[in-house]
Amino acid sequence: MADQLGAQVMTSIWRGHVPGRSGDVFLVPRPGNFVAVSKDACGVTGGAPNADTAHPMPWASLARVPLLFYGPGRVPAGRTVYTPTDLASMAPTYAKLLADTSFTADGTALPEISSGTAPPKLVVTVVVDGGGWNTLQLHPGAWPNIERLIRDGTSYANATNGSAPSITGAIHATMGTGDYPAKAGIPGNQMRGPDAKVIDTWLDRADPRFLRVPTLSDQWDLTNGNRPVVGAIAYEGWHLGFLGHGAATPGGDRDPALLWDAKAMRWWTNERDYSLPAGFRDPDLADLRSHESGLDARDGVIDGKWFSQPIESLLADPDQRVGTSAFMQFTGDAALKLLHDGRFGGDDVPDLLWLEFKGPDTAGHLWNVVSPEEGDVLSAVDEQVGRLRSALDRQVGRENYVLALTADHGQQPLPELTGGWRIDGQQLRVSIDARFGRLVQQLSATEIFLDHAAMRREGVTAEDVARFVAAQTIADNLKANRESGVAPARLGESMFAGAFSANFLESLNPSAIEAFGPSSYPEGDLTIDPPAGS
Ligand SMILES: [Zn+2]
Repeated sequence: MADQLGAQVMTSIWRGHVPGRSGDVFLVPRPGNFVAVSKDACGVTGGAPNADTAHPMPWASLARVPLLFYGPGRVPAGRTVYTPTDLASMAPTYAKLLADTSFTADGTALPEISSGTAPPKLVVTVVVDGGGWNTLQLHPGAWPNIERLIRDGTSYANATNGSAPSITGAIHATMGTGDYPAKAGIPGNQMRGPDAKVIDTWLDRADPRFLRVPTLSDQWDLTNGNRPVVGAIAYEGWHLGFLGHGAATPGGDRDPALLWDAKAMRWWTNERDYSLPAGFRDPDLADLRSHESGLDARDGVIDGKWFSQPIESLLADPDQRVGTSAFMQFTGDAALKLLHDGRFGGDDVPDLLWLEFKGPDTAGHLWNVVSPEEGDVLSAVDEQVGRLRSALDRQVGRENYVLALTADHGQQPLPELTGGWRIDGQQLRVSIDARFGRLVQQLSATEIFLDHAAMRREGVTAEDVARFVAAQTIADNLKANRESGVAPARLGESMFAGAFSANFLESLNPSAIEAFGPSSYPEGDLTIDPPAGS
């Protein structure tokens, strides 16, 4: 199966595997398929299937992300580079911009970007969460400001997120550290913790203890006596791998790191390691409401709905409320306020600002990436990119900053549109336990954590489980005694392109991976060719 997946995909999986922390079996659903883990996500009890899909797979549609830089004097204008690269190049490129020669990482600096005659006063990074190329290309009219940045700067057309699983926590840590998860230590959003339990990689409280290496921002702050202003606005702890450890680094300071508590409707942070600036202690909810009052009109019709979502119920649900374009406008307001109040770019000591816009990912999970709601949220993020650029021109000066934009992963369209299949995660777990005894500790869309004591008791290895999973067909995944309604022609279809034990992944090395050669799957080719004649 590794041979069929090919060297590029297996490299991503290998870089993304953190021994001892990643699951025991890594799952690779066939292109278009995904493991649905939420309750009855497959609609098997008679309801409509959930619009939620999953995006941790290593395929091109999920791994290919925008990576672009804008900064007159330091970033060539109008340039599209087709040399393959990935997000581990970001931190080393920033080190080069800042003329910091001591920073080392897995990634290498992008040769096109330089510090010019002097380092910029500010480097700003915008992360469009879930805004990989497939998301952008599904909504081609929604991002004119990003297109303008591409025209005025340098864009890397063959950038990938660098590792699999293609998931928020892992990839943000790569952006900040320049290291892949195998070294940075954050395998995803969940991991096996020190006491063998499966835990949140940021302990659900923005705790950076599992990030094993310093970020570029950590190092830059520390080597300059904490004089640089380093800060972030994001949604939850998983993103803070792009920023760093704050005061958890010996000698480090509490950098501003604003996260949003959707239920309590307030900004928060882990105040032991980061700070919540005074101006954000009382969130400006009137500002959020004023944006929300504009939602109805954004689809062109005043009918009490934002696209197909009734606004009243939408705003009554804290999780849906943050998936709207209004919340992206609110996030943009906060970004501009932090830029201003924090005096980013205010002196000659270069500063680093990291901004994550969660909405495209949230809207994609709620209504799917193909929905018009997703397009509207993307266009709201794009509006904030335009506002940010103007604010930077005004406040820092056109020649004095570099603005980078990227995404952590793409998103999976509804399987009805791709010919894919929702793999019933709950049933898969039932099947494994029925075959081997009660082994499954946790099953996610990307991996299976096994109960090691139960494995010893039953005499089962992770290889046994991987082999079993790899052979599962659609028929195997149907609940017993259920009228399936599945077309007979699909019953024998295998659901997975791969299932790999931790031992297998840990036995690989770059030359063994190289030998897997090109992928048998078109989605296993992570690169595109330059347009003919260029
Ligand atoms: Zn994400």
